[in-house]
Amino acid sequence: MNLIFMGPPGAGKGTQARRIAEKYGIPQLSTGDMLRAAVKAGTPVGLQAKAAMESGGLVTDAIVVGIIGDRIGEADCANGFILDGFPRTVGQAEALDTMLTERGLKIDQVIDITAADEALVSRITGRRTCGKCGEGYHIEHKAPAVENVCDKCGGALVTRADDTEETVRNRLTVYHAQTAPVLNFYRGKGEIKVVDGMQDMNVVFDALCAIIG
Ligand code: ADP
Ligand code: ADP
Ligand code: ZN
Repeated sequence: MNLIFMGPPGAGKGTQARRIAEKYGIPQLSTGDMLRAAVKAGTPVGLQAKAAMESGGLVTDAIVVGIIGDRIGEADCANGFILDGFPRTVGQAEALDTMLTERGLKIDQVIDITAADEALVSRITGRRTCGKCGEGYHIEHKAPAVENVCDKCGGALVTRADDTEETVRNRLTVYHAQTAPVLNFYRGKGEIKVVDGMQDMNVVFDALCAIIG
């Protein structure tokens, strides 16, 4: 099962992809997570990606297509994968198509998780992530039992450097200009499923499971 989760920053792609990955036993491939790891490790890709990520702009298609091309060839993707945060431009979607065709693969579902821009700013400024295990939290909607401590592993929660109000507004502008057209690209190729990401997290999860089957 090869899935694409689309949606604006803060819609809940990462939250849901982690749960779906666990339930269906297929990996979550988040280009954002991979790029943050590269920045942290100071790799050549990380050095190239850093400035765009800090400002809320997009990293070049060549970099992210390269990362995903390598990643989907790994053994744990043999039964499928969830693309979270990729493709973000029509160019990336076209490159993905080519890579999949070359490997005899296809996308089974493109799912658009929608949310209103106004809700997304507080979703993102309130987002916290466990620095140790990666579990996601929100200061209001999914607060840990002890402030800033992960319920699952006891790790410290961190706030992403790009989760400021100013950067979020930039990311939303970039989303509407460059990523929303990707939905039309997939609409033109067939069906795309829409799930209302403003619903409770568990309701969103159930809706996704109903689509995936
Ligand atoms: P994305 O990966 O699409 O950027 P995340 O999954 O990281 O989004 O979610 C952004 C923030 O919103 C997180 O703090 C998360 O806990 C919270 N969140 C996710 N889904 C919901 C929801 N359905 N209702 C309320 N808050 C949510
Ligand atoms: P969110 O879903 O909360 O917007 P991500 O973790 O998916 O955040 O992405 C963080 C940043 O990483 C983006 O603002 C962008 O700079 C970069 N990035 C992630 N995925 C891509 C991609 N497919 N193409 C270009 N840049 C990307
Ligand atoms: Zn943790």
